[in-house]
Amino acid sequence: MHAFDLTRRDFMKLAAVPLLPIQSPPVDPWQETSAILARIKDPVFPDRDFDVSRYKSINDAITACSEAGGGRVIVPAGIRTIDPIRLRSRVNLHLSAGAILKFTTDPQRYLPAVFTRWEGTELMNYSPFIYAFDQTDIAITEAVFGEKVARLPVLPANGFSESTDATRFNGSFKWSLKEAPRIEKYFAQSFGRQLPVTALGQSATHNRLGFDHHDAMDVAVHPDSTEGKALIQELRKMGIPFIAFRGAVPGTSTGPHIHVGRPSTRVTRG
Ligand SMILES: [Zn+2]
Repeated sequence: MHAFDLTRRDFMKLAAVPLLPIQSPPVDPWQETSAILARIKDPVFPDRDFDVSRYKSINDAITACSEAGGGRVIVPAGIRTIDPIRLRSRVNLHLSAGAILKFTTDPQRYLPAVFTRWEGTELMNYSPFIYAFDQTDIAITEAVFGEKVARLPVLPANGFSESTDATRFNGSFKWSLKEAPRIEKYFAQSFGRQLPVTALGQSATHNRLGFDHHDAMDVAVHPDSTEGKALIQELRKMGIPFIAFRGAVPGTSTGPHIHVGRPSTRVTRG
């Protein structure tokens, strides 16, 4: 009989083999996350910039940067349609504020095939949008929108400013996180749902970005939604300082949101 030529009876015999006793569930692998993150060290890049606009393509700039021993490849603001990116060792691909990359829709540009994975299976396939093989010390970074906001002129006490990016209010009430329940209560009473707080005080994200956020609260409400408008009005009435972001803040997982409290200042990392 052929090895794979099971008769129905053979199959039934196999199916009757008792299952292994059920083992105690393994420890949740997510619990290892912090240990894994702790042993990842941020790569350090030579202090050299390569402006993409001086090269024929982003990939040319990346190659030049890597061959020079590494550094930062800067993509200036603007929308670009590009071929798949090939990252190389010691290159920090950095997107300036307002830089948008659109990958070409021409499938031919994703060839020749590269060694990659599809649903966990290793194979040769079209290149992913961003690809690296056998490279070390690579990074993709973005200008943090918060930095842009941090560079805006400081508002006078009770000053208010509105732009397409953000609405700011420098309320003179002495805000601290202890006041958070007041806002939660207002929101729950007005909208019949819990205030969607994404960060109360310092969070892992703020640590990673080096922002002092210990006395601030982030609320996942779009400033231009009904809830957002009402919340902004209420905060102004209470004199509580805030920044309402209309767009995602690159480098964080946060989309449009309202930051309640004084603007975060960047903590210098040693
Ligand atoms: Zn915030």
